[in-house]
Amino acid sequence: MIRVLVYNEFRHEKDPSCRASSIYPDGIHSAIAAFLNKEEDISVTTVTLENIETGITREILRNTDVIVWWGHMAHGDVPEHIAAMVQEEVLNGMGAIFLHSGHKSKPFMRLMGTSCSLIWRESDDLERLWVSAPGHPIAQGLPAYFELPGEETYGEPFGIPAPDETVFVGWFTGGEAFRSGCTWVRGNGKVFYFQPGHETYPTYKDANVQKVIVNAVRWAAPTYRIDNCMDCPNPPKAHTTGF
Ligand code: ZN
Repeated sequence: MIRVLVYNEFRHEKDPSCRASSIYPDGIHSAIAAFLNKEEDISVTTVTLENIETGITREILRNTDVIVWWGHMAHGDVPEHIAAMVQEEVLNGMGAIFLHSGHKSKPFMRLMGTSCSLIWRESDDLERLWVSAPGHPIAQGLPAYFELPGEETYGEPFGIPAPDETVFVGWFTGGEAFRSGCTWVRGNGKVFYFQPGHETYPTYKDANVQKVIVNAVRWAAPTYRIDNCMDCPNPPKAHTTGF
């Protein structure tokens, strides 16, 4: 069983003037948990900013295989020590999936070490997502491309380190192109960034988007994990050479 923890700041959906409140009345985290929980090999718990101190602890992260992160307007309210713990657990081996505006979240920026900036516009563009790495596990079961009738436009340059693999390239009717699905390895952990998911569109109800996130959870699940990557072990000579 792959143990998934879905974090969502859960702010836009509580604002009655925001379209997110009618699209995701129970929050984006509940929508993501609902489709992930349909998979027999995945079990999901959720946490929001309101209970982040009790919902993201060292103990909970040690019992999490993959964390999924959605944040936007409240990145600054995520405590620094929690961002540091998430970063460390990824280095230890936990998988991490950052969705949409998670590109500016504290844990993602710590893991990338770069600006993670991009250009953006809200103008109801259609997005066409091209599968640029059809052999990648995250792309399995998807068509050559799929479209979202409305999304927030993100564009290059995207201030990330060169990805290990770019699985999706997004094109928008406004003309922009964007590296919409990227993977990295950090320490023992696998990291995936996936761009669609603006709160005012029903993106997480799209079957192809759901497929990408399910595939990404399975891909990011740890294959090797240690307790503390920050340690520098000092073994006796015989331990490493046998002489
Ligand atoms: Zn957005």
